[in-house]
Amino acid sequence: MRARVPRSNPVHLLTLGGDRPKPEFFSMLRRLWQSAMIGLARSASLKGLMQNNRTAAAMMQRYVAGGTAGEAVATARDLAAKGISVSLFYLGEYVETREGIDEAVREKLAAIKALSDAGLDIHVSVDPTQIGLGVSSDLMAENARTIGHALADAARGPGRHCLMLDMEDHTTIDATLALHDDLAAGGIPVAVTLQAYLKRTEADLQARIQPGGMVRLVKGAFVAGPEIAHVGNAAIKENSRKLIDLMLSQKARDCGFYPVIATHDDRLQDYAIERAKAIGWAPDAYEFEMLFGVRTKLAETLAASGHRIRLYTPFGRDWWPYGIRRIGENPASLPLLVRSLVSR
Ligand SMILES: Cc1cc2nc3c(=O)[nH]c(=O)nc-3n(C[C@H](O)[C@H](O)[C@H](O)COP(=O)(O)OP(=O)(O)OC[C@H]3O[C@@H](n4cnc5c(N)ncnc54)[C@H](O)[C@@H]3O)c2cc1C
Repeated sequence: MRARVPRSNPVHLLTLGGDRPKPEFFSMLRRLWQSAMIGLARSASLKGLMQNNRTAAAMMQRYVAGGTAGEAVATARDLAAKGISVSLFYLGEYVETREGIDEAVREKLAAIKALSDAGLDIHVSVDPTQIGLGVSSDLMAENARTIGHALADAARGPGRHCLMLDMEDHTTIDATLALHDDLAAGGIPVAVTLQAYLKRTEADLQARIQPGGMVRLVKGAFVAGPEIAHVGNAAIKENSRKLIDLMLSQKARDCGFYPVIATHDDRLQDYAIERAKAIGWAPDAYEFEMLFGVRTKLAETLAASGHRIRLYTPFGRDWWPYGIRRIGENPASLPLLVRSLVSR
């Protein structure tokens, strides 16, 4: 998952939840804070500086599970001991060069091998643009098939093995869904992320429930205008509940659909748990997903109470853009950030 900012409006990354309208002053401060974080994430010179800064690196350890697939799998083993699964994500933002794309594919393959060797779920997340969508749909599809076949070959033992396609901005949706459907038709264990902020998502979801697919539902890290999107936290949350109803419906269960509810919003998680109970879903027939390092206690509580929980777990050396966005979602980390910016 990469929060790729629509070029037309770089300030518009999704802000964090809560239904109550916020006073204008605080929303302005929040927008300023987020645009500052986006600026920091996109600065190549700052990235070079920070990725060599020990204090910054230590701070990002909270969100990034090491530089290599091997290190990420060591973290995955520790989490497995607490009943928590992972989806590994090789970091790499704004990949536009052939070398960058090839490297991302190599690292996804390394993650598949390391997870397989460790006997864990072989579950990797992939951004379509990371594997070539920015160059051509054909290149993306070729790379996705390489990763998908490696994953299917390694996925011999028990577990929920999956090539999870992240969803980027709305211009990439048709290509991503076409890729998903093509891989699924070819027998690859594939799933796709759908975003509750978009009005089209209900139809996209229905089309994947019918054949018994697997969908990860998120609120969406982007915003768009009211012609295609639900605008504002309350509207997005309301649509999330409606989509959760569909994902956890009797019909979805009968179709063999596998719902993934990806949120740190405990009220939405509770809502899903209630719906699942009401319809009679077994606790192992759906799962929650959160980001590594975010609301860790909540993830542990879910696992301890018998729910399936997976953490989207990034690794790699290009950690600054991803890590600074997580810091941006959590203004309480400002003092730590300032310390790392001024330290050498
Ligand atoms: C597993 C996973 C995969 C994702 N994949 C995609 C994708 O492919 N495409 C896409 O557009 N978006 C993706 N997202 C991002 C998603 O769309 C939301 O932008 C993001 O999850 C924030 O919404 P939320 O539902 O978690 O709840 P929010 O309402 O934003 O937050 C709920 C609570 O969590 C706390 N919280 C959130 N972040 C932090 C943090 N960094 N540190 C501390 N506390 C925090 C908030 O303060 C709040 O109390 C993904 C998210 C997850 C969890």
